[in-house]
Amino acid sequence: MLRFACPVCAREVFFDDRRCRSCGTELVFDRGTADFVPAEDRNRCANAEVIRCPWMAHHPGAFCTACQLTRRRPDPANREAVRNWAAAEQAKRHVVVELDRLGLSLQPRNETEGTGLAIDMEWSDDGSVTIGHNDGVITLDAAEADDARRERLRSRLAEPYRTMLGHLRHEIGHYWWPLLVDQASGEGGRLAEVRKLFGDERADYQDAIDAHYADGPPDGWRSRFVSAYATMHPWEDWAETFAHYLHIRDTLDTASRFGLAVRVPLLGVDKPVTASVLADDRDVEVEVLFREWGALTVAVNALNRSMDQPDLYPFALGGDVKAKLAMVHDLVLAGPVD
Ligand SMILES: [Zn+2]
Ligand SMILES: [Zn+2]
Ligand SMILES: [Zn+2]
Repeated sequence: MLRFACPVCAREVFFDDRRCRSCGTELVFDRGTADFVPAEDRNRCANAEVIRCPWMAHHPGAFCTACQLTRRRPDPANREAVRNWAAAEQAKRHVVVELDRLGLSLQPRNETEGTGLAIDMEWSDDGSVTIGHNDGVITLDAAEADDARRERLRSRLAEPYRTMLGHLRHEIGHYWWPLLVDQASGEGGRLAEVRKLFGDERADYQDAIDAHYADGPPDGWRSRFVSAYATMHPWEDWAETFAHYLHIRDTLDTASRFGLAVRVPLLGVDKPVTASVLADDRDVEVEVLFREWGALTVAVNALNRSMDQPDLYPFALGGDVKAKLAMVHDLVLAGPVD
């Protein structure tokens, strides 16, 4: 994530702030410049009070361009639902900015043209909302922003990592699949290359889900898949790998902006590895990403253990997983097909 400075006093401002903590200036976030500007004479998003959205709107009474992606929202009378929805929108704004910088800008759904993305922010108190993506529409259960509920699910499903940001990155991976992989490309196109690594996505999806929940992941999956969930079907493998690519790009970007350098002799490099890759860096070799990420995660996982917290990045990237991440990297840099 980018770092920000108050336009008035130059002190640090954080992504979800609405006013400078130092000089008190009211601020709004302008997606166009990816920076904060004084709120004076500008329009706040129509969700500014409801969910504390800090973004600028282009017209009085309008939603900001992040809130415009949300098609359905919880009942405003349900305060618990609105509180969780606000947290889900916070994660969404984070991923919107990351994707802008990666060249994968999200635009609201246009049903007539069949383009863009809509997000239905549902809320359930019994887990009855199924998170997923279907044809340009992502459904989220905003209740998963509730820590206790999400942790119960994470523990029951034996997942090492479960967050709202992770859900969004995964589902947005499904959204970008046909556009980045070029579903219409024939032999020799992007799709054929993707199938070589991820498998044939024409495999029956329901059969694959049933088999996964009946038998669990295949033996030895860790060297080939980034998560157990990714073993289920080539589409899920793609979405999981895409989500990890976004985890890596965003977290390395943050580390780079703070000038983090770590010494990890185990990797055979005794001089510090300094994080340097920014999310909008278009020329970066994937090997540089892996080297910096590998060094950084050893250090940040150790930091978390010093605070008795779970590992920040509780995953290991096997050889096949790196090949898949390298393909996502190439396709993101190549950009979506029209
Ligand atoms: Zn200030
Ligand atoms: Zn907004
Ligand atoms: Zn999925």
